[in-house]
Amino acid sequence: MKITDIRFCGAGVLAKNAMNIQKLLGKKKSGIPGRTAGQFCPDFLSHMEKPETLVYVTGTNGKEEVVELTAKVLKDNNYEFTDNIGMGGDGDSIISALLGKTGISGKSNCKLAVLAVDERYAPLIYPQMQPDICVCTNLFRNAPDWNVSVDFITDILNTNISNHTKMILNGDDLITSHLKPENERIYFGMEKLPEDSGLRPNIIQDISVCPKCDTKLEYDFVRYNHLGRAHCPKCEYGSPEADYDVLSVDREQNCFTMRTPEGRNVYPLLGKNTADLYHEVAAITLLHQLGLTAEQISKSLASMENKISGYKTEKAGNKEVVMCLTKGKNPVENSRIFEFIAGQGTDCAVVLLNYDYQDDLHFSENMAWLYEADYEFLNNACVRQVVAGGKRCYDYQVRALLAGIPESQVECALNVEDVVKLVNISEVDRIYLLYSEGTRPKTAEIKEHLMKRIEKEAD
Ligand SMILES: [Zn+2]
Repeated sequence: MKITDIRFCGAGVLAKNAMNIQKLLGKKKSGIPGRTAGQFCPDFLSHMEKPETLVYVTGTNGKEEVVELTAKVLKDNNYEFTDNIGMGGDGDSIISALLGKTGISGKSNCKLAVLAVDERYAPLIYPQMQPDICVCTNLFRNAPDWNVSVDFITDILNTNISNHTKMILNGDDLITSHLKPENERIYFGMEKLPEDSGLRPNIIQDISVCPKCDTKLEYDFVRYNHLGRAHCPKCEYGSPEADYDVLSVDREQNCFTMRTPEGRNVYPLLGKNTADLYHEVAAITLLHQLGLTAEQISKSLASMENKISGYKTEKAGNKEVVMCLTKGKNPVENSRIFEFIAGQGTDCAVVLLNYDYQDDLHFSENMAWLYEADYEFLNNACVRQVVAGGKRCYDYQVRALLAGIPESQVECALNVEDVVKLVNISEVDRIYLLYSEGTRPKTAEIKEHLMKRIEKEAD
């Protein structure tokens, strides 16, 4: 037996033990078993047996949502599979997910794995285990200290994904749709919808010039940021024709019609905004490619209790408190949430707690992203107050003021707990608490305090 085999087997035993301890303690699945394996055998993943079908879902926004939707439908239809939901998108989470389907002998009994993979980990993950299918939801600039730039991310994906991987790509995203141009590919997208007629004055657009001939691209329509459909007036470069194409959306009946290679089908509309619909369409395209029928997919999606979206609303007295997942350092996701809030028209306060929690330890955050997010959407009559919490609250304050929001409506709380007393409860019907994954526990605490204050003042 080679030394590498001994190391792999030893690491596998330790990781399995970590998994069993986690289970015995009643802890949620996590990347800890994978991390344990990786500490003893850094290329552990490359020695693992690959599932019969391996799917990676990557992209700036929506990869976890696509995996969650896909998993729900697979489960309802009695598919055997594994996923890394709630474990993150790194190599540790992939090892943990696959180990759960691996016996003591090291033999995998995993037929299918659907895994969210952080695009930044591409150089570490793909060379060790290549997927059969790679879904890419979208590519935007995001977290500059981590992702560098969208060009860098595109380059590492193109360099590390195998030429044999089938790509499922967002056809409305010119950057995503041109990934791995020689690979077999399927596109999903949406035709121009009535809601696309309004002008969205987004600050950033990650592609505006043809990468082949440097001519300014002509957009047939812009959905948001660089999403939409465009072509180069001088060469053949442009948006591809979508294989899975949303033709119309009925928000009153909560459904949408999509053209697929098998014909037209109607699906339930699960999310509240267009970004949510892209996640749903990506999941449907993947499920269809995995062999599920439109009926199987539609029936399962219709039975979802928790509709997709990062919004969770609770009632307190006659007010609503909405927990809203809004990753910091992600200008496009913030812009979409701000636009959604403004579009609701309900008198509200917006509490910004989506700061980088690591800033509490190291002053590391690059605040440039604040100026790429469209805070201008919050300069709207229904947004009665903006409250920023945390060490960076004054950065948020400056950004809100630059967006034209009156100074009297912007409050700051260096101590995040203080946001509870700063919200003008009597002036609003709804309070949005925007948080990132890292600030979720603290925001949940603040929500409880806020709800108690609302109920107390209502008595
Ligand atoms: Zn061109």
